[in-house]
Amino acid sequence: MKIVIWVFVTISLIVIILYGSSFPFSQIFGKVVYEGDRQTKNIALTFDDGPSEYTITVLDLLKKEKVKATFFIIGKNVEENEDILKRIHSEGHDIGIHSYTHPVMPFISNKRIDKEIKDTKDLLKQTVDMDVVYFRPPYGIRDWRVIGSARKHGLRTVTWTHIAPDYKVQDSERIAQGVIHSFRNGAIITMHDGGGNRQATVNALPLIIKEAQNQGYQLVSLTELLS
Ligand SMILES: [Zn+2]
Repeated sequence: MKIVIWVFVTISLIVIILYGSSFPFSQIFGKVVYEGDRQTKNIALTFDDGPSEYTITVLDLLKKEKVKATFFIIGKNVEENEDILKRIHSEGHDIGIHSYTHPVMPFISNKRIDKEIKDTKDLLKQTVDMDVVYFRPPYGIRDWRVIGSARKHGLRTVTWTHIAPDYKVQDSERIAQGVIHSFRNGAIITMHDGGGNRQATVNALPLIIKEAQNQGYQLVSLTELLS
């Protein structure tokens, strides 16, 4: 009987830890932002894992449609794409931190968590003279140390209401339809402009923007969504 209780307790703890660290709406390990005001017809498109060559086309499309978005950048990707980062900033988009090397952050030491965040924060200050305020952990996976470190650096941890499967699916129609079905007031939508071939994301973007505009949504930066 005792063994049954221990198995139950252990499985329950594992479920709570998995839910708490990876479910985008979970507040178990600390406060995360996953949506904006539900009364306003605003949606925030966010792009993770850049900057990369695909970011250039994403920026061209956003510029053409006069739409603002938010880019959660990986620090090490800036080393070869500094000009793209500068363009994101100069065209009025938001920038957030997505770590320096994209580790699963609960699996690394406190010291390295701090370094991942601080190095990327310093890089944004040096490159675009920006005081960053948003952080998104890689894969959305966090624990109380990760959220605490972000808070110490003045950052709000942001997850999402919908994540496109564009990191594993090369089907622009499917990516676009998934995003369009997730439209609602205050939605934060995650897509990927780096980390592999993102041509399908680029191809999906005009469909997404067009449908948002048809449905009367404003596509705004995170700062505008959360203000
Ligand atoms: Zn990522």
